[in-house]
Amino acid sequence: MTALESSFGPAEVPWTCPFCPLLCDRFSVDAEAGAWALTGSDCDRARSGLARFDPAAAPAARPQIDGVACDLEAAIAAAARLLAASRQPLFGGLGTDVAGARALYPLACRTGAICDPAGGAALFHGLRALQDRGAFTTTLAEVRTRADLIVCVGSLPSARYPEFLRRCGIGQGGAAQFVLLQPTAATPADPAVAGVEVVPFAGDLFDATAMLAACVAGRAVGDAAGALEALAARLHAARYAVLAYETSQLPAQGALIVEAINRIVSTLNLRTRAASLPLGGGDGASTLNAVFTWLSGLPLRTRAAPIGLEHEPLRFDADRLLADRAVDALLWIASFGTEPAPPTVDLPRLVLGHPIFAAAVQGSATIFIPVSTPGIGSAGHLFRTDGSVLMPLRALRDDGLPTVADVLRRLTQALPGAAA
Ligand code: SF4
Repeated sequence: MTALESSFGPAEVPWTCPFCPLLCDRFSVDAEAGAWALTGSDCDRARSGLARFDPAAAPAARPQIDGVACDLEAAIAAAARLLAASRQPLFGGLGTDVAGARALYPLACRTGAICDPAGGAALFHGLRALQDRGAFTTTLAEVRTRADLIVCVGSLPSARYPEFLRRCGIGQGGAAQFVLLQPTAATPADPAVAGVEVVPFAGDLFDATAMLAACVAGRAVGDAAGALEALAARLHAARYAVLAYETSQLPAQGALIVEAINRIVSTLNLRTRAASLPLGGGDGASTLNAVFTWLSGLPLRTRAAPIGLEHEPLRFDADRLLADRAVDALLWIASFGTEPAPPTVDLPRLVLGHPIFAAAVQGSATIFIPVSTPGIGSAGHLFRTDGSVLMPLRALRDDGLPTVADVLRRLTQALPGAAA
């Protein structure tokens, strides 16, 4: 029994859910009738995530080389040969935790690999805007306890983050007004979502956020502003306004939308208090980015090249590199479940993933190593969507699989020329 269990009792130990970047830590999980049962929430995303794990049976998957089962030692040796032979490897997916990220960085430096997570384009909408002009961001706890006006820009996050409204205090007795700024062409928000007021606008999100920024700054915009002028007045009247947006729902060039949101927040902060709340970076993406930034001073899409660190936020886009055949080997990491799935590419692949991938990655030129899932089969840490909060993950059971960090450390040691 762990120290936590001795204080709470096994069934009541808080569990941190690793299946989306809200990292809810108020619910508990029990093994019931051969399955993990979530208590305290009816979140579909967490339930379907838990359904991929068996509380009783040990995972049957073994490492494979070209579809043939082997032991871990042989798989690591083959992986080391694969990376040593590559002139430009790509490390993608990057679905792991802090320990996995810390072990990945030295391997990326040794091999000159380019690292870009699944959903890298979404991550970089916010990062590029942050690099250009900075941003005021807030935490989920501040939103819940201090915000009196929450504006969701473009989409209602609860469709992808089922506990989002509850985390903001909506429907929980909180006093905040909750507004969804949504294009008229979009599917209307579910009217059954109590407490959500929809402010429609004609045009796209680029127009809407630029227009709202102009209204908030007090510029004359004429009749085109429509309901946005009234929304600007409400933002000024709020004591603490929060503008939330989902990075994965922004269109190409979404950094321009994030810049407009950051401009609105900056203008409001001249007289009152406001902040943005980016939602995204799940499956380890923002965690990897945080770790790489503290280790190197630069975010993902950076390569340790012979001339030093090269940061190329556009050129080092994994999808573009694969489409251009600009890389000759792929290391794919997906320890949280069926997403992000390894792409089907005509390249030698090394996949570190949930055992569920074993059947999908069978075939030539693929080495597969099943790994443990942080928060299910092993402990770990992930950064929450609000960036400054690092959440500990508790293992529900020891699944006996190696962690991503274990495998990567051994792989780095197995590279030719590694120090003993
Ligand atoms: S909202 Fe996200 S973190 Fe919270 S329980 Fe659902 S999947 Fe897990």
